[in-house]
Amino acid sequence: MVVYVGRYYHRLSGDATGSLLALMFSRLYLHIPWCVAKCGYCAFTSRQGAAQDLADTTELLLQEMELAAGQFRAEVPLLSLYLGGGTPSLLTPEQVERLITRSCQLWGHDPAIEITLEANPGTVSRATLAGFHQAGVNRISLGVQSFSDDMLALLGRVHSAQQARDAVVIARAVGFGSIGLDLICGLPGQSLADWRQQLCIAVGLEPDHLSIYNLTIEDATPFSHRYPVGTLGLPDDDCTATMLELADTALSTAGFEHYELANYARPGKRSGHNCGYWRRDGYLGMGPSAHSFLRDGWGVRFCNPDRYEAWAASIRGGQRSVQDITRLTREDACAEAIFLGLRLSEGVCFDRFEQQFGERLEIVRRDQVLKLQKAGLLDCGLERMALTRKGMLLSNQVFVEFV
Ligand code: SF4
Repeated sequence: MVVYVGRYYHRLSGDATGSLLALMFSRLYLHIPWCVAKCGYCAFTSRQGAAQDLADTTELLLQEMELAAGQFRAEVPLLSLYLGGGTPSLLTPEQVERLITRSCQLWGHDPAIEITLEANPGTVSRATLAGFHQAGVNRISLGVQSFSDDMLALLGRVHSAQQARDAVVIARAVGFGSIGLDLICGLPGQSLADWRQQLCIAVGLEPDHLSIYNLTIEDATPFSHRYPVGTLGLPDDDCTATMLELADTALSTAGFEHYELANYARPGKRSGHNCGYWRRDGYLGMGPSAHSFLRDGWGVRFCNPDRYEAWAASIRGGQRSVQDITRLTREDACAEAIFLGLRLSEGVCFDRFEQQFGERLEIVRRDQVLKLQKAGLLDCGLERMALTRKGMLLSNQVFVEFV
């Protein structure tokens, strides 16, 4: 574990060079690790918390910001701020406002800054949604997951389908111009007809953005303990792939752009913050388990301590502790630029790649590109290459060719 020191710089103790590095970012992520209850499938750093935990975390995040402002400079005023979790909608509007205001004071903000707050529909009311909007949040991401009460209960969600519907309508009514919904497919016992209906309900609510995930049972989640492998009645891989194809067709027909493997947006409503991750913009993460990527050299990745107590103790002690520091090599950075870029429908631009790495991607990776084109997984034009529709479904097969 390494403690950062110094203004605008840090010393990578144990690093081979021990050199001082100027670090840069343009996006900020704040992790709120508290939830009403732990969902059965959840692998995020989150657990049940009370109002006092939220209040303590707010103060600690504010302290972490002060410490970080003495270490890192933003390369431009902040382009985006993302409050994720966990359940950031458990914060009060006043707490959210303090976090936004201080972030913008410390690092400045672009006039068009995107400020997203993740919200659980079971934790919001007209008053809190209006308060978040007034506090400066201009994009809300609602963790709907399903419009079936039975399925929500099985997943361990704390909200009903009606609460999810109401949250969308109220968010729009209080002024949110950018509303995203998360949906999960491949749920236990789910049929194609049911999934079609879920999509239909979602589209009917007229969101600006949809994220579609398929259910996976991660190690160390409540589900992984409760259900031995194969006992949860999950649809098989072919059925899940058909569900994702159905989503692609239904949402494209409804006017959404399939702009990233798991994400759809109306024109102009993409998640700028998440696009920044895929384009390798620098970002600074705060809060337990938050990851950071700073644009120094080929890039530096690191993360905060996973455990809340460890994170809180370091901040209370007046230091930011980080772990898993990785200084990327040129090869690492090339591979990242390809497989992160290919997640986006715009794909990888050959000129931009050449500006960054000094070589033409379509020439140095010619064999892989030809092989994937032949398999119908990759579209390669004069200016860029991107996944085909089939490639989006089989993206892992593509990515392994480039790492
Ligand atoms: S609300 Fe989200 S972060 Fe919290 S337990 Fe459920 S899935 Fe995990």
